[in-house]
Amino acid sequence: MRDLIIIGAGPAGYTAAIYAARAGLEPLVFEGDQVGGQLTTTTEVENFPGFARGIQGPDLMVAMRDQAARFGAELVMSAVTEIDLKASPIRVKAGERMEEVRTVIIATGATAKRLGLESERTLYGKGVSACATCDGFFFKGKRVLVVGGGDSALEEGNYLTRFADSVTVVVRRDTLRASLAMQEKAKANPKLNFAWNSEIADILGVEVGHVTGVKMKDTVTGEVREVGCDGVFAAIGHDPNTALFRGQLELDAANYLITHDGTTTSLPGVFACGDVQDHRYRQAITAAGSGCMAALDAQHYLENLPKKEA
Ligand code: NAP
Repeated sequence: MRDLIIIGAGPAGYTAAIYAARAGLEPLVFEGDQVGGQLTTTTEVENFPGFARGIQGPDLMVAMRDQAARFGAELVMSAVTEIDLKASPIRVKAGERMEEVRTVIIATGATAKRLGLESERTLYGKGVSACATCDGFFFKGKRVLVVGGGDSALEEGNYLTRFADSVTVVVRRDTLRASLAMQEKAKANPKLNFAWNSEIADILGVEVGHVTGVKMKDTVTGEVREVGCDGVFAAIGHDPNTALFRGQLELDAANYLITHDGTTTSLPGVFACGDVQDHRYRQAITAAGSGCMAALDAQHYLENLPKKEA
């Protein structure tokens, strides 16, 4: 029986793997379908400490993966298809492969919701983004649209005004979902304005290879007009990747895993780190930090198992 399986291959999963492997736990990492996680969909990462000149998101993830492998973590590019966390030992199935294990670290992350437009897919990374913190710097002096009416949209909108000349928050209704404090801050920002009752019907610029504007639809009248811009940020929420664990672990109202005392979930021996349990910070460095915590928590848990179980 194994000591530890890690599910997920973003900064949280790989950091957990590095620490656990160095502690001699011989972790098996199921990397899933998106090896490297959300960072593989970004370009330059300029805020990860230690890279004074920045690093490409995919390069950072390759480096973390190599580091985990160097210390002996077993990395498998397949997705967990079934898991029984309540069984003792825990049973983990990935396709045909079945494993039994004492502890599990869940680092399956979250997926940014997309608008669902073909042009959005084509222009992703070419003016379309889902992360202002990652990509805002590239919009110095530009005109940017942020879609959404929640805290994320206003936070991203406010942040983008540091760089962009103008930021328009595109809201599909005539009210915001965001907290009052965030609304007041946004409304007091002179570089930030709102397009109410509006949604983006299409993003323009596919033929030139970068965003040049959008087709904006009035959700009340149905009228469509063209609006020029250089960037489109979707901030319409994230979905935590927790479908596998529903009914087994405690989730909050938005389906994020609930952790306490560090990275402990509602079941003993099951730990969670990174975006799957954090909708507040959602940064590569915070995910990596919590990955380290999860590995230490798992190590501590294993050390304290009664001898007959261990
Ligand atoms: P959210 O609260 O679920 O808001 C999503 C927003 O996007 C809503 O305004 C929604 O419109 C809109 N939307 C959804 N799908 C859309 C679509 N297809 N087209 C256009 N608009 C769409 O998500 P969030 O803002 O990411 O926040 C998630 C959680 O994290 C919340 O609990 C939030 O408070 C928290 N958060 C906190 C902070 C902070 O405290 N600093 C920062 C960020 C997030 P409707 O209103 O019409 O549904």
